[in-house]
Amino acid sequence: MSRQTSPVPRPLPQVDPDHAHWWEALRRHELLVQECPQCKACIFPPQPACPYCRSLERGWRRSSGRGKVYSWVVVHRASHPWFADRIPYAAVLVEMEEGFRVVGSIDCPPERVQEGMPVEAGFEDVDEQISLLRFHANNPV
Ligand SMILES: [Zn+2]
Repeated sequence: MSRQTSPVPRPLPQVDPDHAHWWEALRRHELLVQECPQCKACIFPPQPACPYCRSLERGWRRSSGRGKVYSWVVVHRASHPWFADRIPYAAVLVEMEEGFRVVGSIDCPPERVQEGMPVEAGFEDVDEQISLLRFHANNPV
């Protein structure tokens, strides 16, 4: 399958203050998770207050980057013209070793994605500011 360069720019995430630390870490090729300094809960997505103990303190810890596919969808219809020549592709929900779940793309064909498949965080540099989470399949079947 060949990939053509799309004439439309790729849609990119809007970085707001609550998520800036997350995106800056991805740009450094680090996967961070917000950790409450009070109750030590992993919080994802990042938020201004801990949903468990309501603390307004914010801390971060580095994720191992290892996880397992919890669920996924195979996208067959492009939600934006940029994706038109990239379908079908899988979007995976990964349960990380630390217990939080995060959505990303994956570098294997959608028909190979399986529940519980071990994956590792990878990083796709899109421009000077944005890197996206793209999981590597460790043991594609
Ligand atoms: Zn807390």
